[in-house]
Amino acid sequence: MHQPAIPHLHDQDPDIAGLVEAEARRQYEKIRLIASENYVSPAVLEATGSVLTNKYSEGYAGRRYYEGQQNVDPIELLAIERAKALFGVEHANVQPYSGSPANLAVYMAFLDPGDKVMGLSLPMGGHLTHGWSVSATGKWFTPVRYDVRADTGRVDMDQVRDLALKERPKLIWCGGTAIPRTIDFPAFAEIAREAGAVLAADIAHIAGLIAGGAHPSPAGHAEVISTTTHKTLRGPRGAMLMSTAEHAKAIDKAVFPGLQGGPHDHTTAAIAVALKEAAQPDFAGYARQIVANARALADALLERGYDLVSGGTDNHLILIDLTNKGVAGKPAAQALDRAGIELNYNAVPFDPRKPFDPSGLRLGTSSITTRGLTEQQMPQVAAWIDDVVQATAKDDEAVLARIADQVRELLAAYPMPGWAPTP
Ligand SMILES: *Cc1c(COP(=O)(O)O)cnc(C)c1O
Repeated sequence: MHQPAIPHLHDQDPDIAGLVEAEARRQYEKIRLIASENYVSPAVLEATGSVLTNKYSEGYAGRRYYEGQQNVDPIELLAIERAKALFGVEHANVQPYSGSPANLAVYMAFLDPGDKVMGLSLPMGGHLTHGWSVSATGKWFTPVRYDVRADTGRVDMDQVRDLALKERPKLIWCGGTAIPRTIDFPAFAEIAREAGAVLAADIAHIAGLIAGGAHPSPAGHAEVISTTTHKTLRGPRGAMLMSTAEHAKAIDKAVFPGLQGGPHDHTTAAIAVALKEAAQPDFAGYARQIVANARALADALLERGYDLVSGGTDNHLILIDLTNKGVAGKPAAQALDRAGIELNYNAVPFDPRKPFDPSGLRLGTSSITTRGLTEQQMPQVAAWIDDVVQATAKDDEAVLARIADQVRELLAAYPMPGWAPTP
């Protein structure tokens, strides 16, 4: 059952309540390896489900366009102060609805339509909002794209520098959605300085690792830092923009009134709670364990002959190129899901296959680390992944149900925050 319980939902809308419980059970029974997901704490769930959802608060603390902000103002100020302390930044805005709107606010703050923006190309691990063609950011601005090197699978910093000096973009993004290696913030900062560009670090995936000291911080290097709050940081669905004091006004004006109306105060409260959790000493242990688990899982996969982009991982994320296994990413991901192992198919750098049916799988260890799995279980997880990939090649459906049972059995020993099976 849910913790906190949802009795009113069960009474008033059994259809939705039933589906919510089914989703909770699904999350309980599966090895969740989607790199952008996590399990939030019951405290974050409670804040997210609170009466703050009833409130409207356009504006900023002390300068609102609606009355009745006696409690919302201190909540937002607490979230801001906690963000500043945790990430060591001069300014934080906790109002962006999610990562994509947060990134759009960065454009709004620094660029005019048509201006040049530089980012890691999407199929190389970048994000849509860093100027990819189908995104508003690629349509309304002029994108310049850098790549990873074919030989190392790592961002090609020589190319970044050459392109930046040749194209002179106004904004340079570093960070992305499928980068298994440490991002060199000082190197990006030096290039941006030389090129006269604003450097924005998008740490959506690695914010929790940075907060826990398991990845270097962009603070002091990037003028602007954008992050979601729901990935490794383990908070509610939301986002934050952080910056130097110099850019505080531009960022705030871009978020509101530039792009958004009222902030989601229930989310703001839950962000504050998550930031407090991330500032506790045990969160550093959590961040370290995420990386230790990813390394152990990567090692076990390498031992089984898997081709990992960049040859391994420094963070929570692993990108597998399945080409040498004779299986495409999508059928493998679907078979893994049926076997109780949830992840996503993903393009790999220089992927010869189409984006909707690419060659790779993307995995992350933040959720299983929250459940309490350690390096000890990673060889078993790799063995199951390997069995399913081989079964996919042979069209052997029977293996999948057997593994799903074994996965359920293993996970029963690792409690899930927010839900437990009824005894
Ligand atoms: C997840 C992600 C985003 C977007 O976040 P949403 O909340 O899904 O809009 C932006 N940038 C990067 C690098 C991400 O990984």
